[in-house]
Amino acid sequence: MRPRRDAVLGSTGCQPVAFGGPAECLLARSAIANANAILGSGSRQAAANYRLAACAPQKQKRQRCCYVVAFALLLSNFSMLAQNEVVNLALPTNNDALFRGGGPEFYQYIERDYKGVKSTPWEGGQYGFVRDPIETAQGIVYTRFHEGIDIRALERDAHGEPLDEVRAIADGKVVHTNLVPGYSNYGKYIVIEHRWDGSNYYSLYGHLSSIAVKPNQDVRKGDRIAVIGYTGAGLNQARAHLHLELDLMLSHQFEAWYNAFVKNDPNHNGIYNGINLTGLDIARLYLALRKNPSLTIPQFLQDEEMFYKVTIPKSSHFELVKNYPWMLPGTIGVKTSSWEVSFARSGLPLKVQPSDRQVVQPELTYVKKSAIDYSDLTRGEISGRRDHAHLTESGRKLIRLLTYPD
Ligand SMILES: [Zn+2]
Repeated sequence: MRPRRDAVLGSTGCQPVAFGGPAECLLARSAIANANAILGSGSRQAAANYRLAACAPQKQKRQRCCYVVAFALLLSNFSMLAQNEVVNLALPTNNDALFRGGGPEFYQYIERDYKGVKSTPWEGGQYGFVRDPIETAQGIVYTRFHEGIDIRALERDAHGEPLDEVRAIADGKVVHTNLVPGYSNYGKYIVIEHRWDGSNYYSLYGHLSSIAVKPNQDVRKGDRIAVIGYTGAGLNQARAHLHLELDLMLSHQFEAWYNAFVKNDPNHNGIYNGINLTGLDIARLYLALRKNPSLTIPQFLQDEEMFYKVTIPKSSHFELVKNYPWMLPGTIGVKTSSWEVSFARSGLPLKVQPSDRQVVQPELTYVKKSAIDYSDLTRGEISGRRDHAHLTESGRKLIRLLTYPD
C-alpha cells in the first residue's frame, strides 16, 4: 500500500489501498484535463489512454509508449503546479502590527476575571491556550484554547461602529457563509477553501458585521469579502475584531457524526461547523512565511509539539490521510491493524503511523507526562494525571469523527 501522494510520483494504478484506492483514480482523472491542455485536442485519446493506464494497468501493452510520453508531460505539469501552490498569504485587514511585534496594537484584548480581579489582557487574543487561567501546584495554567487570532479593528465611525474591510488572505473559493449570527459562536462568518500542494485548507473569518461574497465564488488574495464586526458569542462594540483561523478539515462525514452524537443543538453550518475545522497557529505561520516564503504547511507543522497519540481501528472511512497524505510519511507495509494518530495539545492532528496494535475503539497510546490534570491541558479529550491518563467520553466521540460511520 502506498500513501496517496505516491500516485503523483509514479504509482501505476489504483491498487486497493487501506484508505481508499478511488482517491488515486480521482487524482489520475484530474490529470486528464492537464494532459489535454498539454497535448492539444488531437491527443485526447492519448490522455484517455493515460486514464486507462492509471486505473487498469494490465491493458493494451502496445500503447505503453504513449503512456510514457503522456506521463512524462504530466509529471512536468505537476511540478509546475506544485511550484504555483506555495502558501502565499496576506493579512486580512489593514492591521499589520503582527509584523511589528504583535502585542496590543494587533490583538484585541479579552475581558478576564481572575479571582475577582478584572483585567483586559491582549494576550487572550492570540492563538493557543491563552484563556481561563487556573492556579495549580505547577503554577498558572491557561486552560482554554483559542483556535485563531483576534485582530483588532482600526477604524470606527462617529458611533464607534467598526469599519475595517476584511479581505481574503489567499486565492481560493468561498465554500460557506453563515449569515445568521445566532447560528454560531463565530457569529456571521465566511469559510474560504485554499488548495496548496494537493491538500485543502480553510481560512475562517468570524464575528463579521456584513458579508460581501457568496458560496462557490472564486476569490483572489486581497479581494474584499466582508466588514469587521462583533457578531457572535460574548462580544460588544468595544471588542469588535476579526477572528481569523486557518484550518484543516477532519471529515466530510461530519454532519452524520454530529447528528449521532450532539443533541439539542442543531448544526446550521454543515461540514463547515467549527468542530470539524481544526486550526493551526496562523500567527506563527505568517511570521514563518516572512522568513521563508517557500515554506509548506507540512514543513511548518513539523515544529509543532506532539502531545498525545491515539490508536484508532483500521477503517476505509479514515479520510485524513487521503486529504492530507503528508501526515503519513514514507511507504507503509501491507499489514496494518490500526493507525496511530499524533495530536498537538490543541487536538490538531500532526502525523499518522501504521500500528500493529489491535484496537476496537480509539485508545490513548501516548501522552506527554504531566502532573497537571490532562483535562486542563487539552480541550477535554483526555483526563487524569501522570500514568492515569485516559480518553474521556467526549474525546473518544471526537476521535470517532475521523473514521465515522465506523
Ligand atoms: Zn477569536
